[in-house]
Amino acid sequence: MIPLAFSRIELSADTEVKQTMALRQMNELVERLSNTPKYHTLTKKDRSQLNQEGYAADLVDNLLVMTQRTEESSATDNDLVVVGFTYAAFDPALYASETLKNHFEQLSQGCCCFCESFLMPTASGHISHYRPVQLLDLADVEHVSPHPHHECSPYFSLAYQQENLVYACSACDVTHKAGTFTVAGQRYPEVALEEEKAVLVNPYQDNPRDFIRFNPSNAHAYAFDQVLAFYSDTKKLSKQDIEALLWRSPSAIPNQVDEAGVLLTESAVEQAFHAWLTSTASKREMSRGQMTIATLGLNRTVLVLARLAMLKQYQNDFLNQQGASPIPLIAKDLVTTAYRSLGVDAFATWQHLRHSEVHVESTYSNKAASTQQRKLVTAADKALFETPLPTWLRSCISYLVTESELQLTDRRRLVYLSSQDRLYGETDTEKCIFLPINWQRDLHRVIKVRSQRNIWEASFSELANSRPHELINLFANNDVWVEGSFTTLA
Ligand SMILES: [Zn+2]
Repeated sequence: MIPLAFSRIELSADTEVKQTMALRQMNELVERLSNTPKYHTLTKKDRSQLNQEGYAADLVDNLLVMTQRTEESSATDNDLVVVGFTYAAFDPALYASETLKNHFEQLSQGCCCFCESFLMPTASGHISHYRPVQLLDLADVEHVSPHPHHECSPYFSLAYQQENLVYACSACDVTHKAGTFTVAGQRYPEVALEEEKAVLVNPYQDNPRDFIRFNPSNAHAYAFDQVLAFYSDTKKLSKQDIEALLWRSPSAIPNQVDEAGVLLTESAVEQAFHAWLTSTASKREMSRGQMTIATLGLNRTVLVLARLAMLKQYQNDFLNQQGASPIPLIAKDLVTTAYRSLGVDAFATWQHLRHSEVHVESTYSNKAASTQQRKLVTAADKALFETPLPTWLRSCISYLVTESELQLTDRRRLVYLSSQDRLYGETDTEKCIFLPINWQRDLHRVIKVRSQRNIWEASFSELANSRPHELINLFANNDVWVEGSFTTLA
């Protein structure tokens, strides 16, 4: 991740007016509908009424009002009414216009601010919201929730705030980050925004290198904050000494796992690290580095391969260098290069190796890694790798029970709620509740799909193999439900 110096860009008066107007309408709608009676659902009539009152169609059409039940029981006391907007409610002209996009592209020197890939040649970068403004994906890895689900984002009012905008690639932003935003402690608006402890490293406010660094022997990202805590707890070393140790010998970097959670080494360091992880000392604070790497998928295979290719290039540059340039000079020269954070670690490591005259070779080997035994390390890793269904799918699908279905015990309607899109399979007229899926119980149940002509069967694992777009079509055009015995909710 790249540290970014935030700067604001002046927008046209017209844009400012539109932003203010949209924000005011959003706040009004949320305030008004937060007092909606439970189980109410927005009907077509309700929406056209709001339109007539002067609310923008984009906002009204993409407004969500949901009653959510967190556990499957008839206890209705804890049911929660959530109000918010899906992605289409936000006007791209007001947060991702050419002017804004160019500005933020320049701020991150044409690279994705999260994964540091150079995006300029293909113009494939887009504006991403640091705090997600659409649906919030509550399947966060730290507080391993057995029932991941979506909720309306409380950050909708940050949609047009420049401090909340970054330039990113769609793999980081849409495929990985999506609606994820984990916080330590209370979430806004329960605490003021400035007080909220975001876990995702913020390129404007944090120095990303305090949290994420790279292993030059395999181009993997690792949680520097966690490794720092490990060595300072177990060896009582200072930050400077630890940094020097890791640069001198990359094999001292523990917890190197690939995408599938397979450990890349089984060294003594690794064992000491896992012993530390399971001890009480390590539990005092979650590692923001580790969570950020997981949230953004910074060790996804294609990215590691791209970094390895860049590493080769760095290595040539380094070997062609006459004498040893001081590191700060090299780091400065790396400013317009992709994967520069890896470059800093690689150059520093090679400098050390050059002094100790050790031959520089990449030790990365995919083959060796894949034959290693899979080893689960922390609760977070466990949540990520243990489940047979991808987390995004688990959080997107939920049960929807309408008033007339409360007593049904042989089937339950499934809906698809996507953070980038809308609610598919929604009933438009009846009162309803949203219910999380009990995966332990329901994973292997039969799913029935009724299209216009016939009824066919599917399974959750089949859904997991579909692309999001296919799922949207499935849920938009068919009735989808799960068969089996369920408890009555009436
Ligand atoms: Zn990226």
